[in-house]
Amino acid sequence: MTDHNCIFCKILAGDIPSAVVYEDDDFKVILDVGPAAKGHMLILPKEHYADIMAMPEELVAKAFILAKKMATKMESVLGCDGINVVQNNHEAAGQTVFHFHIHLIPRMKHDKVGV
Ligand code: 5GP
Ligand code: ZN
Repeated sequence: MTDHNCIFCKILAGDIPSAVVYEDDDFKVILDVGPAAKGHMLILPKEHYADIMAMPEELVAKAFILAKKMATKMESVLGCDGINVVQNNHEAAGQTVFHFHIHLIPRMKHDKVGV
């Protein structure tokens, strides 16, 4: 299912360009256009779900398994010291795009990223 007003659905459909890092049947991983740190990525399910509560449990599980795999890869490829795995739900929690996504933010010792 696609929401035609959703910016991530437009990205997934290829109507808006993005830097794709990884893709499988269920997800695309893209670089964040406004990165909190260099290499900041977003895991997007190809189906539109507004938030974690709306998503089927099996897909939530797959999303976080992929987050683990991507985080492991990021450590070895980017050589970062740590990674924030962040997932916001609803405006009060800082969600600005209402299509479920997981942030992967590479961190370096003593950096000043506010997440
Ligand atoms: P949220 O605040 O909803 O957890 O995160 C939304 C994220 O989507 C933000 O980090 C923002 O920079 C990113 N974002 C918003 N619009 C676009 C876009 O058009 N392309 C990409 N690659 N990222 C976007
Ligand atoms: Zn969407």
